[in-house]
Amino acid sequence: MLSDPVTVIKGIGEKFAADLETMDIHTVKDLLYYFPYRYDVFDIKPLSELIHEDKVTIEGRVIHEPSLNFYGKKKSRLSFNVEVEGVAVKAVMFNRGFAKKQLNPGATVTLTGKWDAHRLQITVSHYKMGPANEQTAIQPMYSLKGDVTNYKVKKAVKNAVETYQNNMPELLPERYLVSYKLPDRASAVSTMHFPESRVDLKHARRRFIYEEFLLFQLKMQLLRKIKRESTSGNAQHYEPANLREFIDSFSFSLTTAQQKALNQILADMKSPYRMSRLLQGDVGSGKTAVAEVCLYASITAGKQGALMVPTEILAEQHFQSLSETFGERASIVLLTGSVKGKKRKEILAAVQHHEVNIVVGTHALIQDDVFFDDLGFVIVDEQHRFGVGQRRALREKGLNPDVLFMTATPIPRTLAITAFGDMDVSVIDEMPSGRKAIETYWAKENTFERILQFIAKRAEEGEQTYVVCPLIEESDKLDIQNAVDLYQQLEAFYSGSLQVGLMHGRLTTDEKDEIMKQFANGDVDVLVSTTVVEVGVNVTNATVMVIYDAERFGLSQLHQLRGRVGRGEKQSYCILIADPKGETGKERMRIMTETNNGFELSEQDLKLRGPGDFFGKKQSGLPEFKVADMIHDYRALETARQDAEQIIEHGLLESDSSFRQLQVYLEDNTILHEKLD
Ligand code: ADP
Ligand code: MG
Repeated sequence: MLSDPVTVIKGIGEKFAADLETMDIHTVKDLLYYFPYRYDVFDIKPLSELIHEDKVTIEGRVIHEPSLNFYGKKKSRLSFNVEVEGVAVKAVMFNRGFAKKQLNPGATVTLTGKWDAHRLQITVSHYKMGPANEQTAIQPMYSLKGDVTNYKVKKAVKNAVETYQNNMPELLPERYLVSYKLPDRASAVSTMHFPESRVDLKHARRRFIYEEFLLFQLKMQLLRKIKRESTSGNAQHYEPANLREFIDSFSFSLTTAQQKALNQILADMKSPYRMSRLLQGDVGSGKTAVAEVCLYASITAGKQGALMVPTEILAEQHFQSLSETFGERASIVLLTGSVKGKKRKEILAAVQHHEVNIVVGTHALIQDDVFFDDLGFVIVDEQHRFGVGQRRALREKGLNPDVLFMTATPIPRTLAITAFGDMDVSVIDEMPSGRKAIETYWAKENTFERILQFIAKRAEEGEQTYVVCPLIEESDKLDIQNAVDLYQQLEAFYSGSLQVGLMHGRLTTDEKDEIMKQFANGDVDVLVSTTVVEVGVNVTNATVMVIYDAERFGLSQLHQLRGRVGRGEKQSYCILIADPKGETGKERMRIMTETNNGFELSEQDLKLRGPGDFFGKKQSGLPEFKVADMIHDYRALETARQDAEQIIEHGLLESDSSFRQLQVYLEDNTILHEKLD
């Protein structure tokens, strides 16, 4: 049985087993799946190309019987000559006297070891009788702990593979092995440890990449299904007629994409299933408009709603625009950290007594003293800025409210589903018509003065500009333009003709809010800033976004920054000042000038720099895989997702006997016991 303890394997005693425990290897299966973290590949090269003191592999014929000398306690030295390319090479092997019998004169042998070019001698660390396979010798290298050596692990694995070769049930249904040309489980396990060629290794890896993704996707999707079918949420019986009237009151009609997202959310709200949904859409794609309709739906169902945003200034903006949009339809309050004392008490009482329909706020929303009468719907804007704990705290304020997370950082769908696990995902992938595309230019630093003149021209038309640069502090090493410097430069250049403001991460929240207010009011023409403007402020009058050292930002971030302009009727511009050295950097700038579509950009970004930018540093919560890599193997992930969907949709686990092993596996891995939150 694969679940037997490792001690059943020949050569693994108590001591070795204890060491293996520290490496998280307990069962035979653990050992079999303890794949090498890398492989040493030694190509056979001509003698003339071997480098002194390198680890090399050669192939030759044994010339004469080896001589064996013993020395010290139980130590031995075996030496013999082999003929390689017509030259005699001396080979030395320590403590492997047993090899003497195999190394008969005339036999072909492949030797790996340290090369001494002066003496034409190899100190053998590994040998194999016969010629090398496909001109290579591939050595598995395991990550090790304590006294465990690579050799010991290799030997233990070898024994395990030999013993259990015929005892490893196939997990994947035949049809996938056939259509994707994947090796079966037993031979793939063997190949992962002892590949005979690179090609074999590639296919074995492919198999495990697919297997890992499929199992993961199946688990996720089963979990979602279970969640859906559990009736722990509340069904919100909203009034369709009211919604219709509300939507008709907008000065625009919803785009098809908005309508679709709205329908998905409303369907969730109506069902007893507790919604946890991510709404993705480019800046300005109309997420907030959709969210407003949902909030109203909740109100017509007799519930309260909450909208949580990352900053006070955003909270105020949302509060104002919501108040305008809802008019008499709802009683809305603003609850932020600066609402204090008596005012705060009054608001809290009103919320608790259901005199308030919607609360807009920052983290202040989820403090202990805030109680809702009947919270039905929660929206978290720019969700990646909130920790999981905060989301949960808010949710726990009500009886399982439906939660909608909104983000303007587009993430490729498969990645989103994988990263956010059991969340459902809606996407608004279409912009309202009539928007003017932002014109994006890539400029070199020596054109800066012309750019400043351009800014002045826009200012004459009453338009405003953001100038963004990456870092606040002077850093000789990085040679980064800093915000303070830039601010002073601009002040000097405009000498009072334009109002220049400065904003950076070292300012207090109040100071930041104050400057943002001045900019929003139009008191400041040009705002020099570090990336703090990233968060979704809405200054429709701003039409120019200048990004300094643009090569230091990822595509998604650049796109976010660009989204700060182009929010009004007027033509907007984005100017990227960059002098990228590498091809990747140049490619990024080109992509930016060529597309305004956030999803397209995020796919490109994914290829260029990995997922870090989407999920932030630590809180990513990306699942870890043994062999697979979500970015590198993105296509396999997509394939596995689709297959898992098919399997669940058609109930294949239950109805099709070729899925039996998969079902057993999923049951054994107790997905039902995993936490649902
Ligand atoms: P997001 O939250 O995705 O950034 P918003 O919902 O704030 O986008 O919408 C951005 C702007 O576009 C707002 O001024 C909003 O009134 C307007 N808007 C939203 N939906 C539409 C639409 N379907 N047609 C025209 N304008 C729209
Ligand atoms: Mg918004």
